[in-house]
Amino acid sequence: MLFKILLGFLCGVSAAATDNITAQQGPPPLLLVSFDGFRADYLQRFPMPNLKLLYSQGVLVEQLTNVFITKTYPNHYSLVTGLYAESHGIVSSNMYDPVTHKHFHVPNDTDPMWWSEAQPLWITALDSGYKTAAMMWPGSEVIIGNRTATHFSPYNVHVTFQQRLRNVTNWILGNGKEEGVKFAALYWEEPDRSGHIFGPDNTTAMGKALKEVDDNIGLLMSELKRTGLWGRINILITSDHGMAQCSAERLIRLDNCLHPDNYTLVDLTPVAALIPKNNTEAVFNTLRKCHPNMTAYLKNTIPDCLHYRNNERIQPIILVADEGWTIVQRGDKLPRLGDHGYDNSLPSMHPFLAATGPSFRQGYQISSLQSLDVYPLMCHLLSVPPRPNNGTLTQARCLLAAETCWDAPMVIGLVVGVLLVLTAITVLFRFLSVRRRLGPRPFQRLQVDYDDDDPLLE
Ligand SMILES: [Zn+2]
Repeated sequence: MLFKILLGFLCGVSAAATDNITAQQGPPPLLLVSFDGFRADYLQRFPMPNLKLLYSQGVLVEQLTNVFITKTYPNHYSLVTGLYAESHGIVSSNMYDPVTHKHFHVPNDTDPMWWSEAQPLWITALDSGYKTAAMMWPGSEVIIGNRTATHFSPYNVHVTFQQRLRNVTNWILGNGKEEGVKFAALYWEEPDRSGHIFGPDNTTAMGKALKEVDDNIGLLMSELKRTGLWGRINILITSDHGMAQCSAERLIRLDNCLHPDNYTLVDLTPVAALIPKNNTEAVFNTLRKCHPNMTAYLKNTIPDCLHYRNNERIQPIILVADEGWTIVQRGDKLPRLGDHGYDNSLPSMHPFLAATGPSFRQGYQISSLQSLDVYPLMCHLLSVPPRPNNGTLTQARCLLAAETCWDAPMVIGLVVGVLLVLTAITVLFRFLSVRRRLGPRPFQRLQVDYDDDDPLLE
């Protein structure tokens, strides 16, 4: 009896959700989830059964090429704005603004000044008449252009994934009085935290952390099924960056090259940001030769491909450590066994993207995509006009069920196949025509032999 009542209640919840979502006009709601520091190859190295089940019913992008520097705040803001860090202004986790002389440090720096060079999707979508939500995503509680998401929660490490998820599903569902949100962004801090503490090469510790992440994905799927949202909303699961293994054997000590009186340090590792006190050229020339595993750049010589130059908050000199190397000022202490922030072309810095829902193809997989393309994809899914951005829908649209998309290997295979068939037909045609020409000759010869005696043919 109790079972029947419970079943009835659950069905009731599910039916109410279904009715509510069906009654809402427009595209399906969109839920964007980030598991911080989820390196792309964790998917091959660890079982992740729930995540695999999710993308087997949707799509998988094996690697997302993220933006430089491959830190949490720059990349989370890029995901929801489609902009490089130099364009959205959150250029690092530690910043100095020479115009206002303000300093920025994570977490919880909510001064709108830092965030207002861009507009996240949870603000832009309000202009389309949608309600939105930002659950502990970097920037969630910041007032940008005098607005916030309809619902938001500032970062609080003590709130469990289940509690965050429960709030988000309630916001998407809405209730009799209030319409549900159309776009929600949800943040979770693992496996980044474990990656820093243990290093990505620690299979035992990372296996445990990723089992918990996968359990949370299982929780997400069951919660969406319980509330009737599964199959009715689009879900993107992604991350901001990967993780590299560090070692006390790979330390770069700045004090070995230059006395700290010569510069002000804004950020340290793996991308150091320095403001020289006097002679910029002299400081640069010293640091340039400091260590074989560290590259120094004057701001105006930072390579174009990094898209990391055109912002006041990028300092006059930056130092970029090679993968797995750590910059310290002095000493032998390694701050973290795992770190990120390195060159965004390194596979170890790349996260992944999985998606499922009514708008996505099923069982489809591509090897890579730019993380900047996630923003135009989300705008397309929500029918929200995108703000100017550095992404494109060209490749991302191939993930969608409604799009006819030719992938390169398939097109090449098709062209080769057609050429082979045409060649075979031509060869066959020629063979037959040769045979036709050769075929009558013996008969003609016989005829000629016979006709030789016929005076009428002479
Ligand atoms: Zn992160």
